[in-house]
Amino acid sequence: MNDIVKAPRILAIANQKGGVGKTTTAINLGTALAAIGEKVLIVDLDPQGNASTGMGIDRKSRKLSTYHVMVGMAQIREIAMPTAVPQLDVAPSTMDLLGVEMEIAGDKNRAYRLRAALKGLAEDGGEPYTYVLVDCPPSFNLLTINSLAAAQAILVPLQCEFFALEGLSQLLRTIEQVRNTLNPDLTIQGVVLTMFDGRNNLSGQVVADVREYMGDKVFETIIPRNVRVSEAPSHGKPVLLYDLNCSGSQAYLKLASEIIQRERKLRAA
Ligand code: ADP
Ligand code: MG
Repeated sequence: MNDIVKAPRILAIANQKGGVGKTTTAINLGTALAAIGEKVLIVDLDPQGNASTGMGIDRKSRKLSTYHVMVGMAQIREIAMPTAVPQLDVAPSTMDLLGVEMEIAGDKNRAYRLRAALKGLAEDGGEPYTYVLVDCPPSFNLLTINSLAAAQAILVPLQCEFFALEGLSQLLRTIEQVRNTLNPDLTIQGVVLTMFDGRNNLSGQVVADVREYMGDKVFETIIPRNVRVSEAPSHGKPVLLYDLNCSGSQAYLKLASEIIQRERKLRAA
């Protein structure tokens, strides 16, 4: 196998707003990708650790975390933990991550810590991952910047609500800044509309506006608001394990296949 095949596709799941569905998308898109044959690593880069908890990794078992990777005390493969989903591992986070910014402030390569760690993952001779999904915190801090510097593309969850577009234009400016400085190759994988409520006229209007603004960058798949999706994390399970037939699970499976199709097109181009 050559290096190109071994290198995973790295997607940063980012939006500076909280509560838009980043973590939910990391967990459930990761699960759906694994279910259709990919080998997936979710990197939890949010000190809240919701992606780790939502995948059933309890806090006590997190001896090593993304904190240790960011400060250079562990390799990412060492901290990766298996989950109930075959082919899906999680690099968990803990609150320690809150201190990373201070600890690495003096390093001129501080924005590339995650990139270096992920490069090691592709080169260490271990079983290769095909997708790495980085769950970002809800702000443009050094952790998010690290993930945008490491990723090939950004995937933006956008909640179908009134202020969606406002946050999006700020995000686009940040992506442009990252391209101009840290990572010229960063592309936008796509915008995922989340928590769509068919009974609410506003949701439909937001979808139309975002599609007009972002064109075919917006995934066709729209994630509906679905109570099963919000219940699943308290059981430490992705919704696909909690209730495979619910509308949320089906939407995330559809999103995964849309992403794979886009990747194939990209590779063929
Ligand atoms: P973020 O990571 O962007 O802060 P989360 O993924 O944690 O956002 O989602 C915020 C809240 O909304 C969580 O309580 C989550 O369970 C809930 N949620 C996310 N997506 C859906 C959905 N499609 N249907 C219902 N609830 C959802
Ligand atoms: Mg989150």
